[in-house]
Amino acid sequence: PPRHSSLLDGISEASSIRLNNQIYELKEAGRDIITLSLGEAFFDIPLPSFEGLPAQQIHHYSHSRGVPLLREKLARYQREISAAPVDPAEEMLVTAGSKAAIFMALTALLESGDEVIIPEPLWVSYPDQVRLARGVPVMTPWYESVEELGARVTARTKAIIVNNPHNPTGRRLGADQLRVLHQLADRHGLFLIADEAYHEFMPAGERFVSALEHDPDKRHTVVCNSMSKNYGISGWRIGYLVAGAPLLAQVIKVQQHLVTCAPTILSHWLAEHFEALLEHTRPQIRRVVETRNRMARLLADRGVECLEGDATFYLFASLGDSRLDSDEFAYELLVRHGVGVVPGAGYGASCERFVRIAVGAESEERLIRGISAVATLIE
Ligand code: PLP
Repeated sequence: PPRHSSLLDGISEASSIRLNNQIYELKEAGRDIITLSLGEAFFDIPLPSFEGLPAQQIHHYSHSRGVPLLREKLARYQREISAAPVDPAEEMLVTAGSKAAIFMALTALLESGDEVIIPEPLWVSYPDQVRLARGVPVMTPWYESVEELGARVTARTKAIIVNNPHNPTGRRLGADQLRVLHQLADRHGLFLIADEAYHEFMPAGERFVSALEHDPDKRHTVVCNSMSKNYGISGWRIGYLVAGAPLLAQVIKVQQHLVTCAPTILSHWLAEHFEALLEHTRPQIRRVVETRNRMARLLADRGVECLEGDATFYLFASLGDSRLDSDEFAYELLVRHGVGVVPGAGYGASCERFVRIAVGAESEERLIRGISAVATLIE
């Protein structure tokens, strides 16, 4: 038979998704697994009822930019987050999750062979998304030193990925660090692709700073964001992209040829219940972030170090002197101890001695058991 594209030979399955698929299967087979591997937090939120929504709207395609009321609400929401104007008609696109938003932005921006700088630890999909968009991912150590990032810029560099708050460490960037990134973008004519999918997951009293705040005209910033984590509805596949009107007019072509529009029925429901849903999730988000930081202390008490961070619901834990690499560690923890964590290897070549622990999907009692199993296996 004809062979698939050789481009796919250089692409791997997403390591976190592969592991979670394995866990879904184990659970289906009746195994009790303490799941510290899911990239989402579970919230108590009302089940949607579609009664009263007009069938001629909800069953069908919508405007490919998104349902107008949802676009308006999202634009207002983004304006509140980033103190920057957002035009719901021209600068807001409702997408099938932020993953699609990032991919469409890359597709719209990259010439074949263009480079995209990706700080490590990286979110597992960035390098392969860049490759699928026919670009070249250039990995670099985390934003510790922006000079280090600057040194990676070449004539082919087109964009830098800025994931804030950060999966998998829980680290967040402040205004000063973001300003330097914008200066770098300005100096070299680069785009910042700002992945802000966890922006609600901040520690109490801390304000999230969006990349848009330093580039309100959206000259070189694309914001990709999502309802998956902040609203606890990952399976709905609704996210959004904010860009200047000229770039968004290009991105929308990709959306039209790929998915037409985001899920319409869910977009209508979300538009109607936008504020109410956020009222439900915000206090729960607060508690998840507190839990994250409590679990970090628990790990520290057991001698396990995590990379610096205090946001999101993730911990990136060092394996210390363990004889196991991250794949072996995650395998043994899952099969022998019934605890799922994601191996660090998928987060970059520098992350093979780490595992990612997510605290959003289990009760306190099971979390403590799971964390304790991680610490014991490391010892
Ligand atoms: N960006 C980051 C950093 C993520 O961790 C994830 C999901 O795990 C996404 C984007 C994509 O989420 P979604 O497509 O559900 O919005």
